[in-house]
Amino acid sequence: MFENLQDKLNKAIKTLKGQGRITDINVAATVKEVRRALTDADVNYKVAKEITDRIKEKALDRKVLIAVEPGQLFVKIVQEELTDLMGGQAQSINTKGEPAIILIAGLQGSGKTTFSGKLANLLKRQGRNVLLVACDIYRPAAIDQLKVLGEQVGVEVYAEPENKNAVEIAQNAIEHAKKTNKRIVIVDTAGRLAIDEQMMQEIEDVKRALQPAETLFVVDSMTGQDAVNTAKTFNERLNFDGVVLTKLDGDSRGGAALSIKTVVNKPIKFISTGEKMEALDVFYPDRMASRILG
Ligand code: GDP
Repeated sequence: MFENLQDKLNKAIKTLKGQGRITDINVAATVKEVRRALTDADVNYKVAKEITDRIKEKALDRKVLIAVEPGQLFVKIVQEELTDLMGGQAQSINTKGEPAIILIAGLQGSGKTTFSGKLANLLKRQGRNVLLVACDIYRPAAIDQLKVLGEQVGVEVYAEPENKNAVEIAQNAIEHAKKTNKRIVIVDTAGRLAIDEQMMQEIEDVKRALQPAETLFVVDSMTGQDAVNTAKTFNERLNFDGVVLTKLDGDSRGGAALSIKTVVNKPIKFISTGEKMEALDVFYPDRMASRILG
């Protein structure tokens, strides 16, 4: 994960570590390299500029300039700024409601269905009674896929393969959840390969009808700035609560992880790092920043 970014950042910082003293000149050169590492990682240019301006300002503080180990202090500053950039604190999901409804949105192929299974697995292991709902009315294969995952993690899957009304399926699923005493309902919705008005309208309608406690937007981190742009469009329509970044196991650059919070102003809540049902983690910005710096 993020090997390229890690490599470039470390190279940039290493030059400073080798210097006995921090000066205006070597800080400027290092910060420039850090900025290049970030833009090479597909971090949004504006975001990269803002963070490196802040890093520079902090690094030129007198305390840093006269410190015994200025290189280490510089690393600490970069770590703090990366943490802030990714949202600072870990953010949990809202599971209030009887039942609590969690709506999952995103493009087809982003990893939505896999994530729905993983989240069900995680919540079940926390002792919650969960129902999964297949709301993809266009791809029967998506319903089957969710059923397979539900079976794997031991969570019931509600589906109405003949019904072509997503709102109705979702509402029926909530009734079913109430009758069967489920506490959390995870609704997996239909996606498209690209943003599409009909899909957006449908998910908006489902959201309005269900009033979910939490709406999560799922996006493939490997698509870099496209991921950020897709997040922006979905957020304008859905005003979602959090982001799930998938396929981080294949993302060597890290641009989406670093830009999304600043651009969309919604926190990343989970990261998905593989196809197995256990490959899901709560997102901790500070841990991710440490990892990026190696
Ligand atoms: P959906 O169309 O959004 O529901 O996407 P799927 O859940 O079907 O996922 C699309 C593909 O990506 C499938 O082959 C998944 O196994 C795979 N996938 C999902 N999440 C991850 C992940 O975190 N890492 C990797 N490597 N593959 C993933």
